[in-house]
Amino acid sequence: MEGDAIWRKVVDAVHGSKRRWQSVPCNRNVSGTWSKIVNSGSRLIVNGSSFSSLMQGKVGNGLSIKFWIDPWINPLPLKTLFPALFRLEKNKWCMVADRVGNDDFVGAITWDWKKYPATVQEIAEVVECSQMVSGTTLDSSRDSWEWNKGRLQQLTVQETKSWIKSFNSDAVGHTFRWNRIPTKVALRRRNILVGDCKCVLCGEAEETAKHVFTVCRIADGVWNGIARWCHIPPIFLFSINDIQTIVDQSGSSNRKKELLHGILVLTCWRIWKARNEKVFTKNNTKITEIISDVKSLGFLWYRSRGKSDVDWKGWHSFNFLM
Ligand SMILES: [Zn+2]
Repeated sequence: MEGDAIWRKVVDAVHGSKRRWQSVPCNRNVSGTWSKIVNSGSRLIVNGSSFSSLMQGKVGNGLSIKFWIDPWINPLPLKTLFPALFRLEKNKWCMVADRVGNDDFVGAITWDWKKYPATVQEIAEVVECSQMVSGTTLDSSRDSWEWNKGRLQQLTVQETKSWIKSFNSDAVGHTFRWNRIPTKVALRRRNILVGDCKCVLCGEAEETAKHVFTVCRIADGVWNGIARWCHIPPIFLFSINDIQTIVDQSGSSNRKKELLHGILVLTCWRIWKARNEKVFTKNNTKITEIISDVKSLGFLWYRSRGKSDVDWKGWHSFNFLM
């Protein structure tokens, strides 16, 4: 069931709605590599948009990325950018390697037209398309797929990244910008809010940044779940800066530290989002839901950095090579 969460997340993020989810055909057998997901995604249409448009091909030997049909050199496929040329193409399903990188000199393009480009539009497109693809070089590595960066911005991963970045910037010290987070107590200090200052998540204490991310009953439940998932000792935060301490003391490789740090910051971000959902939409987010979101978004975030080809199964059990 949870394997589907990632699909749901992406689809929801792109289409901003859960209403249509029921109508999306979901292949439960897809749990393997991204290429499998991409292959099945190309047939999966959600609200008129191809699921695979979330991915962008990274050309290696050019043998498996379709020159016109797959997005690779641009977030949009070439058939969309150059429709007049695509009409003239003899083999619409040709691969990248069929068109570029074949000749002795760099920049040569091997076109195969049904009819030579002749109209103003066709000629303009041939010039522009040539400029775009002529720098492509092939090598012996296999083609791969990455998250389409443009579309990624529609996901909250981008927001997460900026959290992580602010967290990392030593210039401002580890005080981060937590004091800038508009908790009720912070707002009261600025005379913006009057009335009840209770934490909306637990209702048991005043809502300060420190409370929300550390001792709050909800946060505590989330940290517990995250620690269990990451196979690290239970997390007891006394201050937000303890996150850095946990990472420093985890005794792992730099890469793993970086990963752990990202996950912990992402957790803070998701807790804060849960708080906002409660304040603005009166929506109660369950602890399990927060944990599950951290896993899904963490997966997107980690994969988007291209440093690991961990699959969802490995990520879900936190059992993979780093
Ligand atoms: Zn609380």
